Amino acid sequence: MPEGDTIARLAASLDDRAVGRNVQSMVVRHPRLATLDLTGETLVRTSSHGKHLFLHFSDGTALHIHLLMQGRVMFGRAWDTEEWRRRFEIRFDDGTEVIGIDIPLLHHIDSDATGEFTSHLGPDLCGQLDLDLAHDRVLSAGDMHLSAALLDQRHLAGFGNIYAVEVPFICGISPYAPVDEIVGLDTLLAIGAALIRTNALRGPQNTTGRKLHLGDTWMLDTKRRDCPLCGSDIEKRPGKATPWRRRTAWCTQCQADANRCVDVERVTKLLGMHPARHLLALGETTSFVGDNAPLEI
Ligand SMILES: [Zn+2]
Repeated sequence: MPEGDTIARLAASLDDRAVGRNVQSMVVRHPRLATLDLTGETLVRTSSHGKHLFLHFSDGTALHIHLLMQGRVMFGRAWDTEEWRRRFEIRFDDGTEVIGIDIPLLHHIDSDATGEFTSHLGPDLCGQLDLDLAHDRVLSAGDMHLSAALLDQRHLAGFGNIYAVEVPFICGISPYAPVDEIVGLDTLLAIGAALIRTNALRGPQNTTGRKLHLGDTWMLDTKRRDCPLCGSDIEKRPGKATPWRRRTAWCTQCQADANRCVDVERVTKLLGMHPARHLLALGETTSFVGDNAPLEI
């Protein structure tokens, strides 16, 4: 699923493969942008904030792309994808082709107008990260459920459902816990930031530290019925059954409703194999000790 780490990696790939190249041809299959043609312009840079991606061109304009749940951007011809699903196709003068498939949100804007789409967002988890501000923003959600607060991009830009399920599990907190009752919310956010930033640098999305080259999760996208840590039943709910409209899973025992305190011993155990631990000072008061500067992938 495209989350902040996916977008950061995509921006880095575009930097490597297409920035500095001239557009040789371009097709856009979008009702509002059907006549858009940037042929002859140069892709001068990319930028991203959370799940928003911008391609900046030499004419002072930019393409704004948001993949939501279903979109993807790939390099190559994509002949096996129906033409109508290829919302844009850009061919550069060195033969590189960038194809946007099933892109739900696409805008053509002035390059300096990106704030129109990002000014309401919280700190970028894969960019310049201010964890104190992130903590204040999440805490301002009051009694909002933890997973809902993590998914709300006004608090933090970049988390999607993988982190909204996995971070509560790693910390031993129910996804339904009200955020203003969580003891160690700053620790929980530091852990989430370390995970997503590590995955942005390494890819693919992984929360266990196992099968790092393939991606792996403790709770989401597994057929497991019992908790990998304590063996108790895992409760699963589809998106239509959660207030935040995304499917979730949690351990009925070690994420019991009464748990309100981040369990640092548990975190140390669960992140024991994950390279994200290198961005954390794991201890009684776990903190983020990684580089808060924008990631250079
Ligand atoms: Zn458990």
